[in-house]
Amino acid sequence: MGEFELIRQFFSAAQCARAGVGVALGIGDDCALLNVAPGAQLAVSTDTLVEGVHFPAACDPFLLGQRGLAVAVSDLAAMGAAPLAFTLALTLPDVSAHWLRAFTKGLDVMAEACSVRLIGGDTTRGPLSLTLTVFGSVPTGQALTRRGAQVGDLLCVGGALGDAAGALPLVLGDRQVDEAMGTPLLERYWSPQPQLALGQALLGRATAALDISDGLLADCGHIALASGVALQIEQSRLPLSDALRQLLGDADAIHAALTGGDDYILAFTLPLVHLAPLLEQGWPIHVIGAVQSGAGVSLVDNQGQDITPVIRGYQHFRETS
Ligand code: ADP
Ligand code: MG
Repeated sequence: MGEFELIRQFFSAAQCARAGVGVALGIGDDCALLNVAPGAQLAVSTDTLVEGVHFPAACDPFLLGQRGLAVAVSDLAAMGAAPLAFTLALTLPDVSAHWLRAFTKGLDVMAEACSVRLIGGDTTRGPLSLTLTVFGSVPTGQALTRRGAQVGDLLCVGGALGDAAGALPLVLGDRQVDEAMGTPLLERYWSPQPQLALGQALLGRATAALDISDGLLADCGHIALASGVALQIEQSRLPLSDALRQLLGDADAIHAALTGGDDYILAFTLPLVHLAPLLEQGWPIHVIGAVQSGAGVSLVDNQGQDITPVIRGYQHFRETS
């Protein structure tokens, strides 16, 4: 099968490549065309996933398509953007119709859940990797950045932390557990749900936000640095799922919540006045700490004692001291 036949059969014809809101021209020309509404800005983000680095070799192509798109769209959620479209640059070692069918099915499922359309891409031969670029729309000047946190704001997250990190040994086959225990965690790893609705609900309310991809401590460090503030996290407030506690026990579950990446839960800073109305509307918001003057991220126990661990999270190019 040639490159063009492959694109036609698996991408132009995919469910997620059909016409959609904001898409003036999709796959097939030199560029796609997006309509951006007056009063809105285009939010753009790219993510690359490399076999053996971001996902295990020989992983299920359906799950890969699903997770790859979720990881990319999560950045739109973090900015409070409404998703419009995505492109896919795919590098494949060889052409397998079976693999491509399952992969596009995974893309379709997540694209449907996130209301986002495939509008173009590139297809090349080489070691398996995917680069997804997502496009979203956000009211001009209102996007949630990392730089607005104010001293006195609450530090919040949008759900339980550490589940994906807890699932990793199961994903890699390093550990086996019974299905009832493993399934909820594996679902969180393979099918993270970008918190798009929450992100948009936080527009005009949260002062800074991001999605947790590298671990809570590491990612909160980005908000602290960009905003020129300190963030203090209370360990006892970390939301942990029952499944994670059961699998790891409390101490390791806390460690996973603090340092494990891959959860794609939102972390944000919120002035106290906005908390009660948002909770009343039913948004999943957990207060885990506060914004203070100073710099960096610290963790405290019930007595207010500093118990900040040294390990922070995953970096591809770590500085050597
Ligand atoms: P060009 O040579 O102009 O860059 P290509 O021949 O690479 O264009 O691609 C032809 C069309 O197919 C373009 O519209 C491109 O966006 C789309 N396309 C290529 N690969 C993919 C893919 N993996 N997924 C979706 N669209 C793709
Ligand atoms: Mg090309």
